Amino acid sequence: MRSHASVMHLDLDAFFASVEQRDKPSLRGKPVVVGGVGGRGVVSTASYEARRYGVRSAMSTREARSRCPHAAFLSPRFHAYRAVSDVVMGLMRELSPLVEPLSLDEAFVDLVAADLPDLEVATVGAVAEELRSRVADATGGLTASVGVGTSKFIAKVASDLDKPDGLVIVPPGAELDLLRPMSVTIIPGVGPATAERLRRAGITTVADLEAVSLDELVRITGRAHGAGLYALARAQDDRPVVPERETKSVSVEGTYDTDLTDRPLMEQLLTRQAGEVAARLKKSGLSGRTITIKVRLHDFTTLNRSTTLPSPTDHAGTIARLARALFADLVEAGDTSGGVRLLGVGVSGLADWIQEDLFGDSLEPEDEPAPDLPDPGLTRRSREGWQPGMDVVHRELGRGWVWGAGRGVVTVRFETARTPAGPVRSYAADDPDLTPWRPDGS
Ligand SMILES: [Mg+2]
Repeated sequence: MRSHASVMHLDLDAFFASVEQRDKPSLRGKPVVVGGVGGRGVVSTASYEARRYGVRSAMSTREARSRCPHAAFLSPRFHAYRAVSDVVMGLMRELSPLVEPLSLDEAFVDLVAADLPDLEVATVGAVAEELRSRVADATGGLTASVGVGTSKFIAKVASDLDKPDGLVIVPPGAELDLLRPMSVTIIPGVGPATAERLRRAGITTVADLEAVSLDELVRITGRAHGAGLYALARAQDDRPVVPERETKSVSVEGTYDTDLTDRPLMEQLLTRQAGEVAARLKKSGLSGRTITIKVRLHDFTTLNRSTTLPSPTDHAGTIARLARALFADLVEAGDTSGGVRLLGVGVSGLADWIQEDLFGDSLEPEDEPAPDLPDPGLTRRSREGWQPGMDVVHRELGRGWVWGAGRGVVTVRFETARTPAGPVRSYAADDPDLTPWRPDGS
């Protein structure tokens, strides 16, 4: 923990949905849900208007539609999000060379490396306010929530306290008063399983956790976890801000209290980890070609096995299938017979999304056709051709976006970020006057 509040965390508010509302004037102030629009799609981001109906990230699109049927359901446009992200990351790098992006819309900034007269609360507060207004100016009005504190942990907690469009500075010395009443789940690494173990031991708040001895915590949560929890419950976090151009790999692993020998169970764990990796890739707008598994045996030997795909994926089913295949090789070679104490799944060789990949989710061979579009011919055509939300240009009416498509018809709303809300027209899906629109250089 530093003696000054010099770690900043910036998080753009409802990022994907906010970019859509910026670029589609008719959707401003309305519920917007960005994510997979097919039968098995998942919500990436919901606008605040949609959140009022209970729509949340990672919810199935099917459930989101039942909660908020009048929302606009849009496929993601990663080229647009990437462009905004580059602008915002650039503004942060002008402030300090130490910027650590966590995803397209989130980063830590180390203010010690910024050229500031001092690191007093008033100074860093003014810097944070100026950054927020520069972000809004440079992005056509997007809002960012910012937290500043003495560590990454505190800065990240703070940025979430007054969302959207908020700024919270936690002065040095105020960390524990802030954390104590909060749920233990505020602590990084406390997921549902650890939270449940703690709850059974009567620990639900950070204050409860702070009262537990290190030995006791190790007993409840395991050696690997206990020491980290003990420190974070006291707001002790010395993790540095590490500048990287982008995350190079995404992985998830779990260690187990007893050595695992049950193959179906281990396959289930790998499948679940693959799902978590896929969700993180999607959240960052990334996909990767190399799938890796990590297996630590009962004697602490660690085995890594990987395979590389011809094109990048972020698809949970594909990652899981390959992870299970890699694992099967180890099992059949007899490597795992003494028991397994750690399993992990990772994806590397990450690429920015390319437009075609947006449809990869629905074109996976093991995917069933979407149940709401029973005709396979129509399903394929609308998926490959006209995704709701995508940018198009019409020979006479100019630029617009796909409002809906299906049964051989595509409906377009003609508007852009720089126009008022525009008119809606329908065309035959194969109308030669209508083509997808891409920004130059994407
Ligand atoms: Mg965000």
